[in-house]
Amino acid sequence: MENYQDIVKLSQQFGINAEYASEAFYPVFRASLAGKNILVLTDENTVRYGRPFASRLADAGLSVSLYTIPEKEPVADEKTCALVAGRLAPYDYVLAVGAGTLNDIAKYTTFHAGKKCGVLASAASMDGFTSGVTPLIKKGFKITENAQTVSDILIDFDILCAAPKIMTGAGTGDILAKFCCLTDWKMSHLLNGEAYNEEAASLMRVALGQCVDSIESIKACGRQGIDDLMRALLISGYAMVIAGSSRPASGAEHHMSHFLEMDFLRRGERIPLHGVKVGLGTMVSLRMYKRLKDLREDFEGKETAVGLAEALPEPEWVAGVLSSLGCPTRFSELGVAADTVRDMLFNCYKIRDRFTIMTLYNKFGFMKGAADELMDLYY
Ligand SMILES: [Zn+2]
Repeated sequence: MENYQDIVKLSQQFGINAEYASEAFYPVFRASLAGKNILVLTDENTVRYGRPFASRLADAGLSVSLYTIPEKEPVADEKTCALVAGRLAPYDYVLAVGAGTLNDIAKYTTFHAGKKCGVLASAASMDGFTSGVTPLIKKGFKITENAQTVSDILIDFDILCAAPKIMTGAGTGDILAKFCCLTDWKMSHLLNGEAYNEEAASLMRVALGQCVDSIESIKACGRQGIDDLMRALLISGYAMVIAGSSRPASGAEHHMSHFLEMDFLRRGERIPLHGVKVGLGTMVSLRMYKRLKDLREDFEGKETAVGLAEALPEPEWVAGVLSSLGCPTRFSELGVAADTVRDMLFNCYKIRDRFTIMTLYNKFGFMKGAADELMDLYY
């Protein structure tokens, strides 16, 4: 379990203080904030962690206030960002108590206000903790905005292990997706000569391997598993910095997720958890890789692609892991129409000019022969 020291050191290289809960109550974090005005930012769900945390900071002599966004599940949109931004003037530092959304709001608003921020993670649910950009919803569209990375990430296993199971499932989906991201990238490197960064890829691959080794513990939301999962989620952010792009952490499964997000936004509906959609996309990508060897058609680089596919896990294995964590294994469970999912299979590769298994199927005309099977399996 004691992976603490190496992730702490690695984080330092990226200017981030990753600090674990202990008797000493985050001494590095506290020392860096002496004499500063701190705002602890929560929503109605995470205030149960934020309030006692703020009291302990105050007891330790720090100047601290608490603000709770008056919603159980806020969305990172213009309205919520404006609400938070309007309260920042008296403070030097914002500590978000949450995961994706709260972290995004804090990173974005403090960046524009010229202040620093950190996060007390409430769930191991996604890999955006250490990312310097943030997804926001503006005028009904999801866009990626410049933000800053957190200065501190505070990790308390008592909190992470108590998170709703599906949030751990979402984080697991975002990590198991790396099988596909890394393979999409490697395939593009071998077939198209796209630049590839072995340092970033191997850092991600090792962290992913540790999660696979601990998969039973992750499924049980045990400490060892959550430790390896959280570590991999942080490393994912660092691998992107090393690669200078999101390649090590985002492939066709993320394009599928983005495609569906646009549909949810168009319909004005709440978007399902990122990692839940990405987990479904991972099953589709893995199936597409696995069926390459049975394709009658030939294409340049087929042998290479089939070889890469052999090293991948079976999609059924991923489905088993994610369903035991309360995640759906069919798109229909998300509340999305069959036509939309079919449309996704044929068009999501256009979202970005990035070669993936989806690009390969669509550009070479293989999707026509695969779509019915994929719909049967995953819709
Ligand atoms: Zn992701």
